[in-house]
Amino acid sequence: MSRAITPVILASERGEVGLAAGMDLLRGGASAMDAVEAAVRTVEANEADHYVGVGGLPNLLGEVELDASIMDGATRRAGAVAAVTGFPHPITIARAVCDQLPQHLLLVGAGAERFADEVGIERGPTLTDEARQLWQDGLEPGALAQAQAKHGAGEAIYRQQVIERLAAMTPHGGPWGTVNVLALDAAGNLAVAVSTSGYPWKYPGRVGDSALIGAGNYCDNRVGGAACTGRGELAIRANTARSVLLALQAGHDPAGACAAALAETADLPDEFRSPLQALCLTPDGSHGGASTRPGATYSVMTASDDTYRIEERRQI
Ligand code: ASP
Repeated sequence: MSRAITPVILASERGEVGLAAGMDLLRGGASAMDAVEAAVRTVEANEADHYVGVGGLPNLLGEVELDASIMDGATRRAGAVAAVTGFPHPITIARAVCDQLPQHLLLVGAGAERFADEVGIERGPTLTDEARQLWQDGLEPGALAQAQAKHGAGEAIYRQQVIERLAAMTPHGGPWGTVNVLALDAAGNLAVAVSTSGYPWKYPGRVGDSALIGAGNYCDNRVGGAACTGRGELAIRANTARSVLLALQAGHDPAGACAAALAETADLPDEFRSPLQALCLTPDGSHGGASTRPGATYSVMTASDDTYRIEERRQI
């Protein structure tokens, strides 16, 4: 007799606002793909979150550019979009690429926007007054010292170069974050969704790990699902999400697999280094996370929980 599967959904920091929406669907028998998309849409709509969807911080030119991806563990199909403007829900465009344009996986910029219009996905403003203000404040004198105190030397060097580039590009003078949601449904299928506005003040057209399968997102029912937040260039260079699954296959538990994959990035030369984090969920519903910074957490909810709980990530 096969064992009943208890659905589970988990999210990176600030993703907890979406867990109830995802769990409601899972309890009703919906697929993990539907649950992770719904959870991420809630996060994308949250204007108080300045790293995802509406309210995300803009690029160097003051324009919000969004990246997202979704991967189905049952089929290992995926859809992704990058550098999308004018759409509050890039995760839904990524899902539509996966379901309706299966001969492709990743669409960027104008092509992604054209496809979203074609399949009827809603357009809407993404730059809020508050995000514009935070963008401007970060370029004021004193912002570098604050960045250094809060996020370390790598962030200050990054910001210094942003300010120099901005001065060159726009003569008028002009924390990081992403959401990962991973779910296991009652049928035993896994899915992973990731959405981000990327780095504030990023060079226009910059694409991070969140849109790249293998780097910021990977999912395979036979092994598990994994996703990353933090310095995307490191996750791209080390193929971190896929590496988490390889570490699982090598015998690590979920937190250990995340730690092993993050350790692969430790000696990559990178003068802009800032924290990198990974999350993992396995087909039996066990989960774990790791981070290169102390005190990092994630949120998790099972079908028998009334609300989410916060779990610590292993620090490496
Ligand atoms: N990983 C994201 C990116 O590189 C940013 C973040 O999570 O802070 O775009």
